[in-house]
Formats: sequence, C-alpha cells, structure tokens
Amino acid sequence: EGILRRQAQRESSARTYARSLPIVPVRARGMTIEGADGRRYLDCLSGAGTLALGHNHPVVLEAVRKVLDSGAPLHVLDLATPVKDAFTTELFATLPREFADDARIQFCGPAGTDAVEAAFKLVRAASGRSGLLAFTGAYHGMTAGALAASGGAQDVRVTRLPFPQNYRCPFGVGGERGADIGARWTEHLLDDPKGGVPAPAAMIVEPVQGEGGVNPAPDGWLRRMRAITRDRSIALIADEVQTGVGRTGTFWAVEHSGVVPDVMVLSKAIGGSLPLAVIVYRSELDLWQPGAHAGTFRGNQLAMAAGAATLAYVRENGLAERAGTLGARMLARLQALSSDHPSIGDVRGRGLMLGLELVDPEAEPQTVTLENGSVPPPNPALATAVQQECLRRGLIVELGGRHNAVVRLLPPLTLTDEQATAVVDRLADALRAAER
Ligand code: PMP
Repeated sequence: EGILRRQAQRESSARTYARSLPIVPVRARGMTIEGADGRRYLDCLSGAGTLALGHNHPVVLEAVRKVLDSGAPLHVLDLATPVKDAFTTELFATLPREFADDARIQFCGPAGTDAVEAAFKLVRAASGRSGLLAFTGAYHGMTAGALAASGGAQDVRVTRLPFPQNYRCPFGVGGERGADIGARWTEHLLDDPKGGVPAPAAMIVEPVQGEGGVNPAPDGWLRRMRAITRDRSIALIADEVQTGVGRTGTFWAVEHSGVVPDVMVLSKAIGGSLPLAVIVYRSELDLWQPGAHAGTFRGNQLAMAAGAATLAYVRENGLAERAGTLGARMLARLQALSSDHPSIGDVRGRGLMLGLELVDPEAEPQTVTLENGSVPPPNPALATAVQQECLRRGLIVELGGRHNAVVRLLPPLTLTDEQATAVVDRLADALRAAER
C-alpha cells in the first residue's frame, strides 16, 4: 500500500503500466509473479515481450552469475570481450543464412528505440536520402525519429502508408484485397513524378505490429513490399524488436514470408531480460564513417551474457515451433469464444503474440471495410474492465491498439500447456464478468 501510494505521489503522470496494474512484484519465476501481498499472477506482459524464457530462468541467472563471478569488467563501452564475441556468434547463428552471411552488427544504446534511430541514421548515410516510409498503426519507440515513424510526432520526411489489417483498417481496406490496394498505392506514390514522394532512404515495417494492436502483415504483402523496395533501391528495415526470438513461431518473424530485409532492428528478448539493442544489416550499407554512431551503454556485458544464453536456449529447445503450436491452439480457443461474445470484434495474432479486439455491438456500426462490411466501434472501456477483471483472477494482460481496445497476450515461450489453458480460461471468465 505504502509503496503504491508513494509511487503515485512521486512518479510522473505519464506512468503507464503502474497505473493500470496496481501490484508490487517482489518475486518472479517463469510465468508467475508474486506480489508483496502474497498474491500470484500469470504474467502475459513478459516485460512487453522481453522475457522469452519468463522471469529468472535458470540458464539466464547462471549466465549472469558466471560473468559476475569471473571478475570480468561489467562496463567496457564497445571494446571487444569474450562475452560480446559469444553473443554475436550466437545471434548470427540464429539469423536467416542468406542475411547473416553478409551482415554487419552495430551495438546501439540499451533500448529498442536507440536501435531504430541507428537504423535511420545508417540508411540515410548510405543512401544520401532522408525520407522514410512507415505504416499506419506502427510503433517504433519514443525518441524523436522513432516517434515520427510511429505517428506520434510530425516529421515531413516520414510518409505514412496503410498497413493492411483484416479488421478496422483505418483506410477501410483489409484482408488480401486491402493488401493489394496498399501495395499498388505504394507503387503509385513512389513512381508518380507529380504527386509522389521523393525517393526515400528506407521503409520500416513490423512483421506483426505489436503496440498497434497485434496486426500480422500478410506474407504475400510483405514479399511485395520487398520487391517494391528492392526495385527502387530503397532499404527495407524489419523492426523485430517485439516479434523476434521465436515469439511468432519462427525464430525471426520475417522467416514466415521468406523476406530478407536490408536492416534488422533487434532488442527486448535478445538481452534475455536485460537492456540490449542492436541493428544487423547488409554489409553493402556499411558506409558510415568511424565514430558515426556511438553511445555510452553499448557494451552491457550482463545483457550480452543473458541474451546469448536465451538465444541458445530458444534455438536448442525448439521454442519457436512450440510458440507456433501453442499460439495456434490459444488462438483457436479465443476464436471459439468469440462466437458466444458479440463484444469480441476480432481475434488475431501469430504464435504467442495474440490480440482480442473488443467492440460495442450495441452501438452504431462504424468503418466500412472491404471484407467485413461495417463493424461496431471499438470499446476501450470494456477492454479496461477486462484487464481489471483479469488482474482479480490472477492474470496480467496488456492493452493496445489505436483505441486501446485490444487485449494483448504476450506470454513467455516457456509457458506450459496448463498455463496456456489457464490464461484463456481466466480471460474468458474476466470477459463474462466485465460484460455484466
Ligand atoms: N519497436 C517495436 C516493434 C516495439 O514493440 C518497441 C517497444 N514496445 C520498440 C520498437 C521500442 O523499444 P523500447 O521501448 O525498448 O525503446
């Protein structure tokens, strides 16, 4: 109580999770968090997707302890170390072959947003162009460039393209047909000498939008975006900050479509729960000058050790495949649930990145889409109520999407079959209670 009160008094009004999840975690293991009041929760936040192996996984703890006990320096800027070498080797072993064979890595600041900024700098330095193509519903971070590409700030250099969504596409085009229209619109925009945009440096895309409300990009659409950018010498940046490390059912989400990007932005799970962010890119783009990119915290030895252990564990234990199978099972159960609940507007996801979009079926229908006809408006109040009812039932879920009406599930890849069942059971129960 005291901790929550003091936090509410001292912390900024911008605080997010702490506002909607008034718990004080004191212990955690795997998928379970224990609060100071002794209550236990199943954690479907996973540090916003960071905890591929859940909390305090033994291999992560052991890797960190080994560095601590070895007397190795914990902070060495970007100097070469055995720990860094091991991390880089392990990371490259997980990347698609045709990409990794000719790739360079740049260590960035500690956060995903730092790596996004580095990617933008790199493609601008390599191309001499400044424009960027980004998508509706995108989220790339909270620093100026990343924010502009996310739609959170105005930047004349960022051109926004419609991201194809099966449901409630802001441009009213969803599904395969929407994807086709979006691709043709992109071509028109790039090729029209009058109304078009000047040749941009890059296109940045999330293979599955996370914060935007769990929107998987259709594989065929992604392949078309690859062809469009390749034909015009525009770099394709895949932001795999949230989708990486097995989350969507393949080690990297671009593997579903077979698309080979020019730059990959990686963070969150690659640090095995500690802060780490890198960009990996085709060596041909490596045109920036020595010192062109720096930053004090690019050599976090503990994060690299935790990250290497996580990557190896996911690879050796086939956790990406497991995320695919278990995720498909959870998705099917959530879809079955939607037939009894008109308030579930849509269920979508890939692997263990799942979303439940809640709507108000009684309200006047909104937004005409090509595939769905008219759909009811989003219901953020119900989503908030569901989140609170979940918390009461010992389940922590996140909300996302443009209207904050999407209940998001990001469990660790290590969750058991029983835990997966419990998550859907508790969510279903919470929805019933919130609807009352
Ligand atoms: N890109 C994506 C796809 C993300 O989901 C996030 C974080 N949610 C970021 C970038 C930014 O990462 P960070 O919060 O570590 O800056």
